[in-house]
Amino acid sequence: MHNFDVTIIGAGAAGLFCAGVAGQLGLKVLLVDHSEKVAEKIRISGGGRCNFTNRDTTPANFISDNPRFCRSALSRYSPRDFIALLEKHGVTFHEKHKGQLFCDRSAEDIIQVLLAESEAGHVTRWQPCSVKNIRFSASRPHGSCASSYEIDSDRGTIHCASVVVATGGLSIPKIGATDFGYRVAKQFDLPLITPRPALVPLTFDEAAWAPYAQLSGLSLPVKIEVGSKKDKIAFLEDLLFTHRGLSGPGVLQISSYWQSGTPIRLNLAPDTDVADLLSRAKATSRKLIANELAALVPSRLADTWVAQGAALGHNWARPINEATDKSLAVLAERLSNWALSPTGTEGYRKAEVTAGGVDTRALSSQTMESKQPGLYFIGEVVDVTGWLGGYNFQWAWASAFACAKGLAAKAL
Ligand SMILES: Cc1cc2nc3c(=O)[nH]c(=O)nc-3n(C[C@H](O)[C@H](O)[C@H](O)COP(=O)(O)OP(=O)(O)OC[C@H]3O[C@@H](n4cnc5c(N)ncnc54)[C@H](O)[C@@H]3O)c2cc1C
Repeated sequence: MHNFDVTIIGAGAAGLFCAGVAGQLGLKVLLVDHSEKVAEKIRISGGGRCNFTNRDTTPANFISDNPRFCRSALSRYSPRDFIALLEKHGVTFHEKHKGQLFCDRSAEDIIQVLLAESEAGHVTRWQPCSVKNIRFSASRPHGSCASSYEIDSDRGTIHCASVVVATGGLSIPKIGATDFGYRVAKQFDLPLITPRPALVPLTFDEAAWAPYAQLSGLSLPVKIEVGSKKDKIAFLEDLLFTHRGLSGPGVLQISSYWQSGTPIRLNLAPDTDVADLLSRAKATSRKLIANELAALVPSRLADTWVAQGAALGHNWARPINEATDKSLAVLAERLSNWALSPTGTEGYRKAEVTAGGVDTRALSSQTMESKQPGLYFIGEVVDVTGWLGGYNFQWAWASAFACAKGLAAKAL
């Protein structure tokens, strides 16, 4: 018989951190994962250097059906707290872009910190270990531990007062992502916000994309937006053309907000009033339009752009002084307000995160305990999704910390 105060299922960022904090608060913790290695996503994150937090984290950097939910946890465990933990362990890091903090050396440094913290909390870790069933058995005490839950695992039945589900989302199934957390939520009648791939490249109809496929590999800073009026959201970030569509930080950000069947809008020269620039060039220059555009955007893109003119009834393959005002206005509009309709995304295979998940209305924002007593959800399995830039790990740390504190307050 295996008795623990708490069983945490999933030894990723949230589960591993929660285990260490709960253990150090005096709880007898079991951490279980079906993978052989801990925290594979930390290992592959940030190009191997893990963008472990963002200095400028605020609740506005998160998407949820219930946007206020994340406030409490984020305020009680901030980027500064995680930075202090890394400094305690001598991990060095640097800021790359817009508050994003990366390890100087390797993502492995973060994993070693979390393992050391869980060792300090005397956490028992079973890996690889599969969990089959979870049963609520509140009325049945087992040994010294007044168990509320029985968990069937391939190392035997576990008895524990509380269960923490930290099994993440569906992205990157080849490194162990499963729908386990959503199934547990359903088993205990907890509502779900339909999961969907987020921070993911967008794809387009093959024929419609043919003129742009040749731009694959080209990257440039853009303004990208979706929605209208008060729902409008925009990012100023890089865009990357791919064979099948668009990627790069700007597109990943907007993908989390994009809804199927709606357009995205791109300004390919966000720092310039393109209409004004072209009309002034018309008065003073005899250069080809493509050459004028090449001062604003990469020349491959400028060439592709003028080549589209014929299909739109305009001749843009000519000197700028020969073009009509109307034709230049159409060109400027198309460059600075390009509306295009993705047909889909690259899906969970390429998505950095899963948006949606366990509906936060069924969880305590203070402790992450669900309406099912003793059952907690933390990290990405919850309907709280961060922007690109270290926010998702910050949510993993903050929700894990809130949960560990809640578990300890209840048990001790
Ligand atoms: C390629 C990539 C790069 C990323 N880079 C960044 C970044 O730089 N910064 C950032 O903030 N975020 C980044 N993310 C997102 C970030 O990795 C996740 O949001 C974060 O790992 C979520 O933590 P988690 O603990 O909730 O889930 P995970 O880290 O996914 O951990 C879930 C754990 O549960 C285990 N598990 C799943 N199902 C079961 C089951 N049935 N039984 C037992 N165990 C199970 C898994 O093996 C895994 O160990 C990246 C994601 C990807 C895919």
